Amino acid sequence: MEKEVVSKNFIEHIIDGDLASGKTKKVITRFPPEPNGYLHIGHAKSILLNYGLAEQYGGQFNLRFDDTNPEKEDEEYVQSIIDDVRWLGADYEDRCFFASDYFDRMYEAAVTLIKKGKAYVCDLSPDEIREYRGTLTSPGKNSPYRDRSVAENLDLFERMKKGEFEDGSRVLRAKIDMASPNLNMRDPILYRVAHFHHHNTGDAWCIYPMYDFAHPLEDAFEGVTHSICTLEFEDHRPLYDWVVASVGFEHPPRQIEFAKLYLTNVVTGKRYIRKLVQDGIVDGWDDPRLVTISALKRRGYTPEAIRHFVELVGVSKANSSVDVDMLEYCIREDLKGKAHRIAAVIDPVKLVITNYPENKTEKMTVKNNVEDEQMGTREVSFSKELWIEREDFMIEPPKKYFRLFPGNEVRLMNAYFVKCTDYETDADGNVTTVYCTYDPETRSGSGFTGRKVKGTIHWVNAADCFETDVYLFENLVDEEKGVYDEDGNVNVNPNAKVLMKNCKMEAQMAGTRPGEKFQFLRQGYFCADTKYSVPGKPVFNRIVSLKSSFKLPK
Ligand code: ATP
Ligand code: MG
Repeated sequence: MEKEVVSKNFIEHIIDGDLASGKTKKVITRFPPEPNGYLHIGHAKSILLNYGLAEQYGGQFNLRFDDTNPEKEDEEYVQSIIDDVRWLGADYEDRCFFASDYFDRMYEAAVTLIKKGKAYVCDLSPDEIREYRGTLTSPGKNSPYRDRSVAENLDLFERMKKGEFEDGSRVLRAKIDMASPNLNMRDPILYRVAHFHHHNTGDAWCIYPMYDFAHPLEDAFEGVTHSICTLEFEDHRPLYDWVVASVGFEHPPRQIEFAKLYLTNVVTGKRYIRKLVQDGIVDGWDDPRLVTISALKRRGYTPEAIRHFVELVGVSKANSSVDVDMLEYCIREDLKGKAHRIAAVIDPVKLVITNYPENKTEKMTVKNNVEDEQMGTREVSFSKELWIEREDFMIEPPKKYFRLFPGNEVRLMNAYFVKCTDYETDADGNVTTVYCTYDPETRSGSGFTGRKVKGTIHWVNAADCFETDVYLFENLVDEEKGVYDEDGNVNVNPNAKVLMKNCKMEAQMAGTRPGEKFQFLRQGYFCADTKYSVPGKPVFNRIVSLKSSFKLPK
């Protein structure tokens, strides 16, 4: 991976060339989302790539909403995208643009094409247009309206704009080549009649530009030099170039395609995420089981971790799929040195130290992060009754189980050695209480060297602990079944979200603010939920467990 960092990617090579030849003076890039859903991890890659290039070359990065398809677009999405782009640290300063702000200029550009004899109004029905287009193996045929005079085209196009025609009855088309081997070049539609209400322009327009016409113009209006998009637009590049050349831009932008980011067994793709939200399978676009940016943020991911991940993934021309382990690795790496480590018992069992005095409470001084002395210490209370993790006690332990079982001695982390003497169960055989004795000589930090124990377990003081809910997550997708079933629905893992009620944790955790992150000792990294937490009662999401099989590629 180090190699990737020091050697330049293919986009950087192109930019270097354009700067060297003088074609580009100042690098201008943009991120052009369509506000028809929330952004996901794939978009993060595009945002950070575009932003990173502008920064690296001392250029400029724009955020621009591609809001030319009002039917599916919404103000809520605009706001969420702004929040996500800012949160990722891609600073667009005051350059947040809307394609809809350019509708007048786009209309003018279309008029220019008509005047140059490069566009015409076509009255064929949508079905006829499809039929006339031909196929990959057969050429299309010219529309009977292709040779309308400039004057007639200008008149009809203006009347399209004025609302004289019904939706779908007429379109403006580019006059290129109905026999082109590239279907995108067979007189593509530039404008359609559509009486939609637009989130930005209201009812001002009843004609809307098509993506392939609007997008290159938006780039050209903003002086974008390198228009970076994903591979599916490769076949559209000739049309992109045709539009900017035909309208007559002196410094046309250059389109460069790279491969989309996919994660193995993860639902990316707005369309699928939207369906999960609409079908109520997840609890909104920011459900922590999703990989939308808002979900990752809510789950407890940091911008730093996402940036690191995107760097590790790199930029390429070949589609591939990255393992989600790599994303998890990045958040562990980031939080390892940042998060305080606290004791929390998620599935509690009572532990009673029979020989510990009744009304005594000791204060134990514990490090906030054993890897960093600078992060200081805190005091936690210790007394006769504690909570321990259910899985840290077994009546009949298997081989190599070094935690508590009758007769065995372990260390209570930051406290004493305790030896199990007895236990109680309920009518169903579930353990309810574990009894131990402690050895006062073995207090942590006392320098005791008399004997060793093989197991160390964590605990929480029963008398003053904080009690709350914790959500544990697994992959949303049932990996055994694959991502989608034959109807295109996601195969959902029923255990993807597990609510653990009445978990016990150190008393001071009651003061956690939403979004604060911790390592729960031996359990993983957790974040106080921003939706379900209330003052005095934070609720926690597990971001990621501590265990990983992921290794950085050499
Ligand atoms: P989706 O496929 O999830 O619906 P989209 O491509 O329709 O996404 P847009 O809002 O049109 O979403 O995309 C904005 C930008 O993000 C585009 O430049 C697009 O190429 C890029 N992008 C979208 N998905 C990915 C991805 N998985 N990896 C990298 N870039 C992506
Ligand atoms: Mg799209």
